[in-house]
Amino acid sequence: MSTITGKTNLVGLLGQPVNHSLSPIMHNAAYEEMGLDWCYVAMPCDSQDLEKVTKALRFLDFKGLNITIPHKQEVLKACNKLTEIANDIQAVNTLIPEKNNQWIGANTDVQGFLTPLKDHNLKNKSVVVIGCGGSARAVVMGLSSLNVKKVTIISRNEKTLNIFVQSTSNLLSKRDISIESINNKKLNVSPYIQEADLIINTTPIGMNGSQAKQESVPLGQEVWDCLSNKTILYDLIYTPRPTNWLKIGQQKNCFTIDGLDMLVEQGAFSIRLWTGFHDVPVQTMKSSAEKHLMV
Ligand code: NAP
Repeated sequence: MSTITGKTNLVGLLGQPVNHSLSPIMHNAAYEEMGLDWCYVAMPCDSQDLEKVTKALRFLDFKGLNITIPHKQEVLKACNKLTEIANDIQAVNTLIPEKNNQWIGANTDVQGFLTPLKDHNLKNKSVVVIGCGGSARAVVMGLSSLNVKKVTIISRNEKTLNIFVQSTSNLLSKRDISIESINNKKLNVSPYIQEADLIINTTPIGMNGSQAKQESVPLGQEVWDCLSNKTILYDLIYTPRPTNWLKIGQQKNCFTIDGLDMLVEQGAFSIRLWTGFHDVPVQTMKSSAEKHLMV
């Protein structure tokens, strides 16, 4: 890594925890290849300190910040303006410096999610989204731009499911996409799985270190017996690669996508917003993250 000097520009990540984040690895690899004297650091920050910390980092002339769990909604208060996407989903993962020591809030998770799907034509297709937390909002926003026919949200908790559908149905109705919500504790979801063209897992089920065990699969093992080989499976999880769920898809010859590309792409879009350079070495970012995951 190049030497940090008095002139080095600083960027970084705020979240809690941040010690397992791949962002410093892939961002610093990108800046080195781009020949930029920039340095990216991960900074743990508790919710009660978020407003003070973002203000202070703006005064310290940070050139940009990424925001991760659990602050993506809370950080809206620290923004003086929002991009249209961030405003639509009321979630921010990127802060861009603005004059008068202010921040603009943006969301690059949506573009990050969409990029791995760019070679698939999903017009008039049926999509199932499993889970209805923060990342599912970015996913539904992304799907609204793909002209899919129908989005079915499957989740375990009736209350959070209803709130989610209320707040996101506007995004889909603008594009004439039908939305349906299914509580998998009450209804048999197999028919929805069978007919889906694309299924996206936005729960942490199957993730390394998650309370929901790593060997588990979303919705339970039996549901996947009816999976068609024409269905694309997209797991937002990137450790392990592949998850047990994607392994089931691979055994059935489904096209599978894991979460690493989304992670890398959302980072690359943040770099574009901060530096103004369009050409970001996405492959270098990905291989540095892959190398780190193997250690
Ligand atoms: P979140 O806001 O906590 O939402 C998680 C969702 O999963 C909620 O709907 C939750 O349901 C459900 N859920 C959690 N545990 C479950 C279980 N044991 N059984 C059934 N449902 C369960 O989390 P998030 O921010 O959306 O992140 C979700 C996953 O996506 C994480 O693994 C994260 O690492 C990954 N992610 C990846 C990227 C990327 O760039 N690749 C970006 C963002 C997130 P309840 O409401 O009932 O709790």
